[in-house]
Amino acid sequence: MVASRFVAGITMEDAIHAVLGLNQKGINVTLDYLGENISNAKDAENSTQAILKIIDEIDERKVRANVSIKLTQIGMSIDRDLCEKQLVQILEFAQEKKNFVRIDMEDSQYVDATLQLYRLMRKVYGFENTGVVIQSYLYRSRADIENLLQTGARVRLCKGAYDESAAVAYPRKKDVDHAYDLLTDHLLQGSISANIPRISEDGRIPPIPAIATHDPARIQHAKDSAKRLNFPKNALEFQMLYGIRRELQDDCVREGYPVRVYVPFGTQWYPYFMRRLAERPANLWFFVSNLIRN
Ligand SMILES: Cc1cc2nc3c(=O)[nH]c(=O)nc-3n(C[C@H](O)[C@H](O)[C@H](O)COP(=O)(O)OP(=O)(O)OC[C@H]3O[C@@H](n4cnc5c(N)ncnc54)[C@H](O)[C@@H]3O)c2cc1C
Repeated sequence: MVASRFVAGITMEDAIHAVLGLNQKGINVTLDYLGENISNAKDAENSTQAILKIIDEIDERKVRANVSIKLTQIGMSIDRDLCEKQLVQILEFAQEKKNFVRIDMEDSQYVDATLQLYRLMRKVYGFENTGVVIQSYLYRSRADIENLLQTGARVRLCKGAYDESAAVAYPRKKDVDHAYDLLTDHLLQGSISANIPRISEDGRIPPIPAIATHDPARIQHAKDSAKRLNFPKNALEFQMLYGIRRELQDDCVREGYPVRVYVPFGTQWYPYFMRRLAERPANLWFFVSNLIRN
């Protein structure tokens, strides 16, 4: 019950219910079937089947949604080749259904492997229907984004949600925020070099820059930079998490920007929920007071 602030529910029907509500408000969705760090091949295959089912359901129900996945959900932490096989299966099916798959970024030990697999999918397998995530707290992200933009990659930019050491990530929020604005500007420039692709009519294929944050100052910076560069509004999108800063989501929609909400669902909600609690101490009080009340 307490997790339901951040998680749309357990079943596919719960998820579709949330998608329909958001679509009605003019908000697109990326659906996340919760799960990460699975420990055996069978679980990786089961996750893949569940993800295929989501892609199929989006197609059947004609909703404005794509999907987000984690590579450790489909085997990255146990067997890289198994993960590659699952990912190809997912991207092939998404391509058939004209949909898009965003590969979430996990903790720093997986960044190299994630970017390598992403490049392999684009370059060797030729999939265009996938994008990746860059975290502004990592020192390496500027170089990563520059490389990615050379191939017209669609990039979701977030601050980063894992507990990283100062050896790899900025410890101070101020530096993470500064890096975020710089990387936003890189993404906008990269989009110009790729002829400024727009979001698809059905809301499924995102533009190059996906600005994923609930921080009003970061959002304002992106809007100001985009305006200065004469960007059409539908050539960038703002992304936020289910249940967080709904009024900001609505404001961006009202101003005419595409907004996509990340909607997680499924039984494996614990690690996702813990990350949401950890990034905002006030959530702990919310959580504890609900526990006491129930
Ligand atoms: C669509 C989307 C996809 C993401 N994908 C990834 C990913 O693939 N990999 C990854 O590492 N991280 C991902 N994240 C998480 C991200 O890295 C941050 O941890 C998270 O967004 C909080 O940072 P913030 O940018 O909102 O800024 P903050 O400065 O942390 O927060 C700004 C404001 O947002 C609100 N807020 C932020 N978090 C919460 C919360 N948990 N509960 C309540 N209010 C909150 C508060 O009002 C806060 O003042 C994603 C975030 C989004 C929006």
